[in-house]
Amino acid sequence: MGDPHPTPATPTAAAPTARPKLRAEALTRSFGRGTRTRFALGPLDLSLAPGEFVCIVGPSGCGKSTLLRIAAGLLRPSSGELSIRTASPRPAAMIFQDYGIYDWKTVLANVRFGLDVQRVPRKKADARARDWLARMGLLDVAGAYPATLSGGMRQRVAIARALAVEPEILLMDEPFAALDAQLRTILQDELLDLTQTTRTTTLFITHSLEEAIVLGDRVLVMSAGPGRIIAERRPPFHRPRTGEVRSAPEFTALKSELWELLRGEVRREAVPA
Ligand code: ADP
Repeated sequence: MGDPHPTPATPTAAAPTARPKLRAEALTRSFGRGTRTRFALGPLDLSLAPGEFVCIVGPSGCGKSTLLRIAAGLLRPSSGELSIRTASPRPAAMIFQDYGIYDWKTVLANVRFGLDVQRVPRKKADARARDWLARMGLLDVAGAYPATLSGGMRQRVAIARALAVEPEILLMDEPFAALDAQLRTILQDELLDLTQTTRTTTLFITHSLEEAIVLGDRVLVMSAGPGRIIAERRPPFHRPRTGEVRSAPEFTALKSELWELLRGEVRREAVPA
């Protein structure tokens, strides 16, 4: 294990003056009406600088998926605003916990899917999809159907598909939650490597404090529902970083601190007043 290069807790991502890629202002969302109204989210403010990797942790049911679905344009906010600023018409790409890949398409066709939607010419789309399959170690299974693959490989297909469209913003909703601990560690390290190369602005939701600390430029803690941001911490590690930061004393200290912040919220979500 080498020196994980701890640094003071200062911003490591884009300059704070850069215009945000994603901004949420006083965002709220409720479901149902009248006496049955369930306030699911907010009010919540959030800002992602270009190239920044922001992780959100919070108790189950606090509104994390609701936030991501609003960011992806799949759900409207009840009030407030969410704006995304991209230089190109490329959409934000979303990766779900349950992979969201199509079982009736081959691995190659799955990875090419977003490019087909963008009407990238077939030859070029094939080449780019193969390039991403190679980067994710999936070239050998390009012609296979996802049902024949392991959970880890299916999730790699989902990541390759999302990154193949070269999105300006990546939205990830607990993408590794269904995987076992070892595989999860491997995919975290791969994602770290990939996003540090591509500098894709990423909003990443997770239950795992370790995952948030390894991956994030910032870790935001959400309250019990309706979720608001109640704390923010910057893992004190240089970029590019590697999975070695897991063994740093600062890592353990930050994990304990985040857990202290989160513990009460988890209890509140589980046993509402
Ligand atoms: P999390 O991702 O943090 O576990 P969610 O965003 O999935 O939380 O859900 C937040 C709250 O909103 C929960 O109480 C959930 O039951 C409720 N909720 C989410 N989606 C809907 C929906 N479509 N209809 C009604 N309630 C919903």
